[in-house]
Amino acid sequence: MPMMFETLCDYYDRLEKLSGKIEMTKVLVDLFTKADPEEIDKIVYLTIGELWPDYLGRPELGVAERLLLRAVSKATGVSVERLEKMLKALGDIGKVAERAIRMKKTQALLVTPLTVKEVYEKLVKIAHATGEGSQDLKLRILVGLLVSAKPIEARYLARIVIGQLRLGVGEMLILDALAEAFLRVKNGREIIERAYNKVPDLGYIAKVAAQQGVEGLSRIKIEPGRPIRPMLAERLSDPGEILRKLGGEAAAEWKYDGERCQIHKRGNDVWLFSRRLENITAQYPDVVDYVRKYIKANECIIEGEIVAIDPETGEMRPFQELMRRKRKYDIHKIMEEIPVKVFLFDLIYLEGEEYLDKPYLERRRKLEEILEPNEYLTLSHMKIVKNIEELEKFFLEAIEAGCEGLVLKSLRGDSIYQAGARGWLWIKYKRDYKSEMADTVDLVVIGAFAGKGRRAGSYGALLVAAYNPERDIFESVCKVGSGFTDTELDNLPTLLQPYMRERKPPNVDSVMEPDYWVEPSLVMEVIGAELTLSPVHTAAKDLVKKNLKKDAGIAIRFPRFIRWRPDKSPKDATTTQELFEMYLAQLKKLEK
Ligand code: ATP
Repeated sequence: MPMMFETLCDYYDRLEKLSGKIEMTKVLVDLFTKADPEEIDKIVYLTIGELWPDYLGRPELGVAERLLLRAVSKATGVSVERLEKMLKALGDIGKVAERAIRMKKTQALLVTPLTVKEVYEKLVKIAHATGEGSQDLKLRILVGLLVSAKPIEARYLARIVIGQLRLGVGEMLILDALAEAFLRVKNGREIIERAYNKVPDLGYIAKVAAQQGVEGLSRIKIEPGRPIRPMLAERLSDPGEILRKLGGEAAAEWKYDGERCQIHKRGNDVWLFSRRLENITAQYPDVVDYVRKYIKANECIIEGEIVAIDPETGEMRPFQELMRRKRKYDIHKIMEEIPVKVFLFDLIYLEGEEYLDKPYLERRRKLEEILEPNEYLTLSHMKIVKNIEELEKFFLEAIEAGCEGLVLKSLRGDSIYQAGARGWLWIKYKRDYKSEMADTVDLVVIGAFAGKGRRAGSYGALLVAAYNPERDIFESVCKVGSGFTDTELDNLPTLLQPYMRERKPPNVDSVMEPDYWVEPSLVMEVIGAELTLSPVHTAAKDLVKKNLKKDAGIAIRFPRFIRWRPDKSPKDATTTQELFEMYLAQLKKLEK
């Protein structure tokens, strides 16, 4: 039998007064068993303050406080000014609406009581109202609901439309209650959670549980277009412990600093979902294109990290730059300013088959198989590490390239994809310390890299070094490709021309091989995000080895050119000793 809205509100009132998990579950079990299985989905959505799962990308309720107060005023005859005063005093819009209904002078005679179904359907209409005249339409629907509402119904209606229901009922509590209400088997809770991990839609899961029980839940399958809950990593800060935990060896992958993305494909249809399972397809038309072009599968679900790329140099940019893609308009313009690459790291589903229970290496091999080689959509950088030294070296390379660290993944036979779980099959290893750059440094050009794309014919980036007066040698620090104006770029060939050399100059110490060597002569001022240790650069290598016992030099992460310093000779550049001291002085413990 359809449930009356007042009945549902009575449950909310009981829930609101409880805080213990056991008591709250009891109330929910009672509510779910009383609910008509046909409308239990709506009851569940309303209880968590939503109308549908986020991933559908449908609009949210979006009623502003002001509009709601106007509706309450129209439905009750209490002035908006008075309601505003009450709101100030009570601090809860639900209570204001409840009180206003009580204050109503004339009670309408022929109001039919509200059903859950009617309320839900009207709220859906409000959510879908957009564009011209939508405010009026929303107002009319709200007034209609409030006119029929009893005081307690007004309290919860107001809170729901404004997004402040806050009953303290989380998704796990709902799953507990559903299992208790409908699944009379010992592992019922596990079964329902597994189903929820595959289809993170509590309303749907509730309906299947109520109508088909364990059988129905066990039949739930992953489907392209509907995201699954992502696997998450544990964290450790000791590489030795990480390797021990993973059984002595692990697949180390760069931990890219971007946005996690679940990519779904069915034929020509492509959907992208964020870490929180929101539909983010519209923000990345370029990624959708790459998937259509380079993924050789009709149906699949794969996962990767979308990373912002410097359009000039092709290097990775920090996560913050991606945030500029979070907009509705001009996405094609922003796409050119902030191009992206995707680094794929997992395969969840392929041509009708679920891959969740297959081991890591098998999933990765399959992923590689369906990927047409190209430069935009590639596999995450991975190396199998068997000892601390290998792990540390790979870690430093990752940091310097702009990554956050590593994700170390189990290689064992049981290394399944644990949807919805934070487990020990993946362990993230991020730095404990960060060394911010407070000041600029002056570095000497020792090499140049050929430009591509818009920079063809000039140079894409310059290799720069600090001066080591003890050895009288220039030791490499970083590759600088950002920060140049167009004119500065155009002038580079003329500026460098007199200093170009065939071979590495004898007073240069560099492991990195640029396309062209340059005699140390030109000094530039550089700033970056932070100083880091790097196995590919040589600056202050001796000091790092002696004091920090690490086989690495000091480098700059995300360096930017500021200006040329013609007033300085190469030997006036920042020394390796200074660079090392800056690194030590600025080490900051990162918050855990
Ligand atoms: P964090 O804030 O550290 O990214 P999180 O809670 O979002 O943490 P975790 O599962 O703890 O997620 O850490 C793994 C995260 O790292 C993933 O969510 C993903 O976005 C990101 N990531 C980057 N590169 C990889 C990779 N190669 N493999 C797995 N995850 C990766």
